[in-house]
Amino acid sequence: MIIDVSSILKETGGIIHIDGEVAVEEIEFCGNSYSFKTPFRVLGSVSNNGTTLVLEADCSAIVKTQCSRCMKDIDVPIDFEISETLVQGEEKQDEFEDVIVFDGYEISIDEIVSNNFIMNVDARYLCKDDCKGLCPSCGKDLNEGECNCSNDNIDPRWAKLAEMIKKKD
Ligand SMILES: [Zn+2]
Ligand SMILES: [Zn+2]
Repeated sequence: MIIDVSSILKETGGIIHIDGEVAVEEIEFCGNSYSFKTPFRVLGSVSNNGTTLVLEADCSAIVKTQCSRCMKDIDVPIDFEISETLVQGEEKQDEFEDVIVFDGYEISIDEIVSNNFIMNVDARYLCKDDCKGLCPSCGKDLNEGECNCSNDNIDPRWAKLAEMIKKKD
């Protein structure tokens, strides 16, 4: 989404309302992959506070990722607030901290939305709170039932020895 700020750039108190959609491509981050079932709905404004422009918006989308225990695909709603300071032209960059610099009169907010997504996404999502995950030995999804390894962890050779010891008693 491109926002044309030419109407407020020289007008302190000027505001542009934003209500639109930003499509974000698949993101790989910290070993997880996130794709988006819906574009981000971006609702907010860009305003001129006399010194800089300020972008404030609420972003929401449905994210497709994997349960961090059983690796099943899951859909997760995500919602976060963006608050960024924007300045026009590289030369002003040193005057402020943590600002986004734009040239001309147009601001593309797609990258701002995807960067803020990375800052707000949880490292782990579960398909359900009590997801049992996968068996570490055979890889079976333990939500679908127990596997054979979970009941009987004793090596068969030791089982025989255990029986011999029992007989001696
Ligand atoms: Zn799960
Ligand atoms: Zn198993």
